[in-house]
Amino acid sequence: MTQDFTTDSRQMLGRLRAVMAEDAAGQTRLDQITRLIAEEMRIEVCSIYLFRDAETLELCATEGLNADSVHHTRLRMGEGLVGRVARTGKVINTDDAPGTRGFRYMPETGEEAYSSFMGVPIQRLGEKLGVLVVQSRSARSFSDEEVYAVEVVAMVLAEMAELGVFVGEGAALSARHQQPVLLRGATAQEGTARGHVWLHEPRVVVTNPFADDPDRERERLNEAVEELRVGVDRMLSVASNGDKEQLEVLESYRMFANSKGWMRRMEADIDRGLSAEAAVEKEQSTARARLGQAADAYLRDRLHDLDDLSNRLLRILTGQGNETGAEMPPDPILIARNIGPAELLDYGRSLKGIVLEEGAVGSHATIVARALAIPLVINASGVLNEALNGDPILVDGDQGVAHLRPDDTVIAAFRDKMAMQAKAQERYTSIRDKPAETLCGQTISLTMNAGLMADLPSLEGSGADGVGLFRTELQFLVRSQMPKRAELSELYGRVMDAAKGRRVVFRTLDIGSDKVLPYMKPTDEPNPALGWRAIRVGLDKPGVMRMQLQALIRGAAGRPLSIMFPFVAQRDEFDAGRREMDKALSRERILGHPIPEDIKIGAMLETPSLAYAPDQFYRDVDFLSIGGNDLKQFFFAADRENERVRRRYDTLNVSFLTFLQSIVERCLATGTPLSFCGEDAGRPIEAACLAAIGLRNLSMRPASIGPVKSILRRTDLNELRAVIDAAGVRGEQSVRTPVMEYLREKL
Ligand code: PEP
Ligand code: MG
Repeated sequence: MTQDFTTDSRQMLGRLRAVMAEDAAGQTRLDQITRLIAEEMRIEVCSIYLFRDAETLELCATEGLNADSVHHTRLRMGEGLVGRVARTGKVINTDDAPGTRGFRYMPETGEEAYSSFMGVPIQRLGEKLGVLVVQSRSARSFSDEEVYAVEVVAMVLAEMAELGVFVGEGAALSARHQQPVLLRGATAQEGTARGHVWLHEPRVVVTNPFADDPDRERERLNEAVEELRVGVDRMLSVASNGDKEQLEVLESYRMFANSKGWMRRMEADIDRGLSAEAAVEKEQSTARARLGQAADAYLRDRLHDLDDLSNRLLRILTGQGNETGAEMPPDPILIARNIGPAELLDYGRSLKGIVLEEGAVGSHATIVARALAIPLVINASGVLNEALNGDPILVDGDQGVAHLRPDDTVIAAFRDKMAMQAKAQERYTSIRDKPAETLCGQTISLTMNAGLMADLPSLEGSGADGVGLFRTELQFLVRSQMPKRAELSELYGRVMDAAKGRRVVFRTLDIGSDKVLPYMKPTDEPNPALGWRAIRVGLDKPGVMRMQLQALIRGAAGRPLSIMFPFVAQRDEFDAGRREMDKALSRERILGHPIPEDIKIGAMLETPSLAYAPDQFYRDVDFLSIGGNDLKQFFFAADRENERVRRRYDTLNVSFLTFLQSIVERCLATGTPLSFCGEDAGRPIEAACLAAIGLRNLSMRPASIGPVKSILRRTDLNELRAVIDAAGVRGEQSVRTPVMEYLREKL
């Protein structure tokens, strides 16, 4: 019986192939397909519904239902049984459609006469394209074999749709990958860019889903899987022993590559008439559909592994490899699911923008993109399915959106926005060499945050007074092994050379929480942001801290040196860090290395506890720098990486400003130099308010220096302070509205 049906299914695919081979219009093809499926399955109805937009399905062809309803009957996602199949991506197979939950009677189609219903999603690599439905008058449920056969046909339809063979009139039959698409994501790095798509992982195109000779296809599949297995074993043998995560991924690759179930399913698909490539892609589509529904992080990781592995296998089978022959456009906008920091650094500043399907605000890739000032949009779901190499694209990092294949109106609006930004840029350039002096005569020192050698040219361009925060972890994050002391000291030396005598504040290694070194054993902590991180790691494993302090002293080669410890929560941590520095200095002295002519050792104030540390601590530190990103997350108990809660609490909240002001006052009373180096320092309104409550040194991304200086030069801090105080007296939660009103009136 099973064998018999397999033959039928082959025959069905054979006929489908013949239809595809004919030179016919998209509508004719769809009509022919519904007819042939109905005939082959000996059922009364076969219909194809396709999406006309993200939310609406349209009946595009039918054999058996009322022909007049074609292109008239429409369903919303989730509506009726068809809409449910589309929404869930799962098959519905019932012998009593009218009695099934969700059934919706559509009089125009005349479908009430049909009892049995099977709906199968038409989807490609997780992208929903439509639903294939078969119905019969008699109450019978379709066998597993029949379900399977219709799934195979649906997969072929999806593949053909991708190749554009169903293009016709109307939105549901419009050509794929040609329409403008607005991709909504989240901002990871502000800025705008216009360019052309460059896919990080080239898309493998399966041009022929059918095959005549199953034996040959099975052989091709087996050969390719063998090549894949050998490749995975080779990667395993060279993988560094310490890298647990990489080993886990490779083990998972190996598990899938040797999985009998995976092979068996693909071979069964080949027996039904699919080519080896199509069989792999069908499995990949199933995995992606599951990925969309898997909530468990471990399962999602494994499904990603299966997805990667399928891509590798497809590249072997199609011979497309990574080298597709495509040339990187001169204005590349990188599109990827995710990307590692080292890969991103390889592209470097050649990229105009980046759009990621996934990504996170605090990821290493985001840190690198920020350092390189490349606009980055993350969580842009659908971009991988939609974008083709070379497509025009506009990235709006400020809004967290991207416009793929934009139409003329969008291009014009975008051009206006970019022109305005360019004008503003001209204004910033004109004040570059002027001080950030307010109308009331206060000069605010504006310094820049950096983390790469590549950042340093911005020091001249932005007019920064120095580097207020040099994040040293990037050199540790982008390597597969711990960097060597000599490499680090050479780099720190070059950073100081490039600063040409301006002050650079080096922050010692700030790892843990979101910043996990690839070669360090990850700790399994329920709350990593509150866990073993930053100076806590440094003091518990002092070897790395010592090595870094030595590298800093050697890099300075006698020049003045400023160092700060991250995430100091109580005074003994700072004291212990300082003792390490003293030891490092005496060791270096004994070894005959030059000692910096002046050394300043400070702490980052990132936990509320430090705001209440004893006066003596304030006197002992050479300076303090408020790490507003962390401080704010702990003040409001709101994860800085959680999109849901991140924006809920305003930096200009009266409680937070009052708290910051108390830190300013303590520093004034104890004579402790204070700066602010969180992201908020680079936001003009926030920066003006920070200056108004008494901060005199703000450190920010280089691109923010112009806008911040521009607003400060037009602001009277005494007046602004009065606006802030008055809002507090009135009992307002945030001073933002009155401050904005005041600035709008004044500027
Ligand atoms: C901060 O927390 O504000 C800060 C500057 O450090 P990071 O963003 O690197 O944690
Ligand atoms: Mg921090």
